[in-house]
Amino acid sequence: MPSDALTKAAIVGENRVIIVKHKADWGRIMGWKSLDDMALAGKRVLVRVDINVPVEDGRVTDDTRIRRIVPTIRDILAAGGRPILLAHFGRPKGVHVPGLSLRPLVPDLEAAFGVPVVFCADCRGPAAEAAVGALPDGQVLLLENTRFHPGESANDPGLATEMAALADIYCNDAFSAAHRAHASTTGLAYLLPACAGRLMQIELRALEGALGTPKRPVMAVVGGAKVSSKLELLGNLVAKVDTLVIGGGMANTFLAAQGIDVGKSLCEHDLGDTAREILTKAKAAGCTILLPCDIVVAREFKPGAENETLPADACPKDAMILDAGPDTVARIATAMEAAKTLIWNGPLGAFEIPPFDRATNAAAQKAAALTNAGDLISVAGGGDTVAALNQSGAAKSFSYISTAGGAFLEWMEGKTLPGVAALEK
Ligand code: ADP
Ligand code: MG
Repeated sequence: MPSDALTKAAIVGENRVIIVKHKADWGRIMGWKSLDDMALAGKRVLVRVDINVPVEDGRVTDDTRIRRIVPTIRDILAAGGRPILLAHFGRPKGVHVPGLSLRPLVPDLEAAFGVPVVFCADCRGPAAEAAVGALPDGQVLLLENTRFHPGESANDPGLATEMAALADIYCNDAFSAAHRAHASTTGLAYLLPACAGRLMQIELRALEGALGTPKRPVMAVVGGAKVSSKLELLGNLVAKVDTLVIGGGMANTFLAAQGIDVGKSLCEHDLGDTAREILTKAKAAGCTILLPCDIVVAREFKPGAENETLPADACPKDAMILDAGPDTVARIATAMEAAKTLIWNGPLGAFEIPPFDRATNAAAQKAAALTNAGDLISVAGGGDTVAALNQSGAAKSFSYISTAGGAFLEWMEGKTLPGVAALEK
């Protein structure tokens, strides 16, 4: 079966698929191989996956990451390959922490893959070699947490060589770990014939389509708490996008930098110069910046707090700006109607505390409607952003929601991700 049909089938109902031209050539354009380029029959395939799922009382509470690697495992099995999974779990910092074993995930993996999953208590050495040798056809081997070895985070060539000895092919399907230069995410790609897995492939295509070679006009929405955490992001975006919406707490820093009193709002007053530099850079690059023109303010940071909507320059001295107002949302909606591509990181307000989720919800629903109508390609990522878009009910209509947090941000910042660069070598 063509891989695109399979990956599409796997994510229908969760996210749409970005339609790109020349699908078959995509990996070649971007410089990496996919599973379609590898002869898999009878081959041992080390697959780096991200199954760092949330677990409570021994039970997986959100299996999204497990579901998303299924197409890769199925395709390898269907081609007669032998999948050997490598993954990290939590932060054991190079020592064996029994509570961070991957073994408890075996039943969830078996249910997702529909085949038996054999577990091995080490990711290298004699035990792993024996387990690989004994793996029956059609089954999957899961190796223990790579981070139990200090060589993982150190990208130690010794550990990478030992892991490479277990297989014939390396397949990286962990975009969300690709911002780390670790032995299992990067080192291995230099030691074995390497390719991207299906999830990595979809993620790279969606992201490249949104920011690398986007359909213009392209618009970015950046919100969240602080400018300081997203400085590089803002700097990179003003040079690449046509319109940049700055919302959330970080908008307060920009308002203050223009001499507006923001009262008791979250604001980084020491970043005034930086904010002004970003505005100057945007102007030079022809990027239109949209800042709030009206605001929702309150005196307390709690659900249902008494609040009022005011012009952006009218925040009372004893109040905090906790959301953007309806006029700002209307301007964002108009900009979205003009855009062909939207990329979003960071909520527009304190979305966890209603009613300060209104601007985020309204903007998300507008993006969802335009996407549903086929008028917009919408891509979003970031821990709180995904939570906010899920809460608004708009997430399922977005073209693509990245499962990656840190890697998504670093990619948006324009950084080269070591795990991706290693595949492009
Ligand atoms: P992400 O995890 O998607 O990258 P961030 O962590 O940068 O997003 O930002 C999310 C946080 O920003 C949320 O906790 C939200 O409450 C907060 N936030 C947004 N707007 C405001 C505001 N006006 N005042 C205070 N906090 C805000
Ligand atoms: Mg966050």
